[in-house]
Amino acid sequence: MADQPDNLSTHTLLDPDEMYASLEEKLRQQPHPIDIGRVHAAYEVAKTAHSGQKRKDGSPYVTHCVAAADIAADMGLDEDSIVAALLHDVIEDTNLQHDDIARQFGTSVADIVEGVSKLTRVQYTSKEDEQMENLRKMLMAMAKDIRVILIKIADRLHNMRTMAYQSPEKQRSKSLETMEIYAPIAHRLGMQRAKWELEDLSLQYLDPLGYKEITDTLDRRMPELEAFMDSMKEKIRIRLEKEGVNASIFCRIKHVYSIYRKMYTQKLNLNGIFDLCAFRVIVDTIPDCYNVLGIIHDMFKPVPGRFKDYISTPKPNMYQSVHTTVIGSEGIPFEVQIRTWEMHYTAEYGIAAHWKYKMGDGSTALRSGDEDKFAWVRRLLESQQESDATDFVHDLKIDMFADEVFVFSPKGDVINLPAGATPVDFAYSIHSDIGNHMVGAKVNGRIVPYDTVLQNGDIVEIRTSKSAPGPSRDWLNFVKSGSARTKIKQWYKKERREENILRGRAMLEDELRHMGVAPDEALTPDILHPVMKKLSFNEEDDLYAAIGYGGITAIRVANRLRDDVKSTRPDHRNAIEKVTDAAERREQQAKRNAKAVHGILVEGLDNCLIKFSRCCTPVPGDDIIGFITRGQGVSIHRKDCQNYINRDTSPENEGRWIKVEWADTISDIYVTTITIASKDRNGLVMDIATVLNSMNAKVRNLSSRSVGYGQAVTVISLEVKNAAELRYMMNRVAGVSGVSSVTRNGS
Ligand code: MN
Repeated sequence: MADQPDNLSTHTLLDPDEMYASLEEKLRQQPHPIDIGRVHAAYEVAKTAHSGQKRKDGSPYVTHCVAAADIAADMGLDEDSIVAALLHDVIEDTNLQHDDIARQFGTSVADIVEGVSKLTRVQYTSKEDEQMENLRKMLMAMAKDIRVILIKIADRLHNMRTMAYQSPEKQRSKSLETMEIYAPIAHRLGMQRAKWELEDLSLQYLDPLGYKEITDTLDRRMPELEAFMDSMKEKIRIRLEKEGVNASIFCRIKHVYSIYRKMYTQKLNLNGIFDLCAFRVIVDTIPDCYNVLGIIHDMFKPVPGRFKDYISTPKPNMYQSVHTTVIGSEGIPFEVQIRTWEMHYTAEYGIAAHWKYKMGDGSTALRSGDEDKFAWVRRLLESQQESDATDFVHDLKIDMFADEVFVFSPKGDVINLPAGATPVDFAYSIHSDIGNHMVGAKVNGRIVPYDTVLQNGDIVEIRTSKSAPGPSRDWLNFVKSGSARTKIKQWYKKERREENILRGRAMLEDELRHMGVAPDEALTPDILHPVMKKLSFNEEDDLYAAIGYGGITAIRVANRLRDDVKSTRPDHRNAIEKVTDAAERREQQAKRNAKAVHGILVEGLDNCLIKFSRCCTPVPGDDIIGFITRGQGVSIHRKDCQNYINRDTSPENEGRWIKVEWADTISDIYVTTITIASKDRNGLVMDIATVLNSMNAKVRNLSSRSVGYGQAVTVISLEVKNAAELRYMMNRVAGVSGVSSVTRNGS
């Protein structure tokens, strides 16, 4: 190979058959039965399909396929997964298609291989965290079958292991993708072993110097660290044996990326990180875990705050163990993880250790007891309120993505839509303007109908135009997202108004023309606005929109307009003049009454202050005159009042007398005063009161006094409605025995 680095020229090319033989051997050791013949057939198909293709290191391409299957076998995956792992690149890189695989190995295997190919095609660009999370979810959702993800991780792991043969650019981009996408997915699935390896391999290319600094230091300190680990391991082993605990003890240097991260997050240099070593004690039962914990704490001084019990509270990714950090005899802290074998298996392989695989014959590849344990873990996860746990359960049950679809914008942003979403949903999810001005859609570069159902990983492109006709009502029949539905309806509500105004006006104009009325004549503010107000519309557009919408008929509005138009025409006016005149008079009167105060209309003055003079106490029906007082409004006098008759006629005062008249409508009660001259006799006042009472006259005041000569004068203030009633009352009082005269005051 031309681009093969010189230092690799001595590299021994891998022999695929040898590798395959070793895989077969591994598969025979699996606890679940595997049809080796079927696996071998897959190997032969892959080998033939990839024949002639080479890896960058010069080895036959199929060695990568066998290596991926080998990793899948390490994960404990089922037979279909192993077969699919062997075939995982044939759709992408050879002439074989889904159907070819399905014919020989079944649709399940073919679906998995197709799924892996789809993930391979996803274009990755570095994004902010939220986008990364969506991208991870999209990959999970695209996978549909979790085995697709597991094989993709195996594939990526092998590619990272052999990344040394790639160009520096590819090393960097693949490492970034691995760090941001695949390591987090492996972590989410609880696959610690794969996660660590992916992280360390990526770091090696992303920060070669940082990576080298750590590995060099570890190498330099290795003799010391190994001596330390050996002595501690031996101490623990002896003590546990003495206590009668059956345990396996392992120790290791922590993985490079975890040290690297610690250095950066805690701003420490490598010498500041003491607990580089991790011990792992694996026992048979949970009580043994806590027993060992007590023994370790008895042997070494625990570091406060470092004890973590992930057995009683497992991590969201199902991880269980007890962690503690203690200080050894040399004063060096180290971490001890205590777990059962079951927990160990889960920690190493995560979901791959637990996923229930359906075999072709309907049986499952689960080891006995796994199903119950899995159910227990799921219940536990579901009971946890941490969002992380919820996320995990969400990811765990890949079916739950059945209600979501993840697609790309042309820029590479991942857009999350409800399952069944269409390009229209996509357009409105970007912006309502995009949706409203949409004139076409492309999916994966091809023009598609608007109702095309989007698939995970589709790249969706929307064509817009300023002159777009706007959303079609039909779109409501196929959009899946509530927001698209709402935005389309909003558009219609708003746009339909414009539409209805235009249509309403056109309908009204038609109707007017039909009646022989020129629209120009009728649709002027003078004619239109009074009609509009009578029909309770505030704006012309409201009226037109209502006609357009059918809220009011055009003919009803047109009829009214026609009447008003004709009433303003001169020839028509003559015919209805009398009626109009009578009406006008009534109207004028009503207008006048509206301005009356206490039943008095003052010429030229509206709403002025009115006072009835005490001298003559006028009542309706009296001829009256007004006098403009200084600051007291208009004083009303009878024209026969002494004060008017004997008025000062100097020009200065004459001008203060003004014409007043009684209004038509009078509701007030008027108080007036009369004077009764009579004989001074016993019982006279009683007789007058009886007469007034018989007429229901309301007396406000009554005073009677003797004036000498056997005569008396009685002054009475009483309420009357008008002059006629007053005259009647005065006549009745005049009839009382002994009364000589009844006069109004002021005269
Ligand atoms: Mn591959």
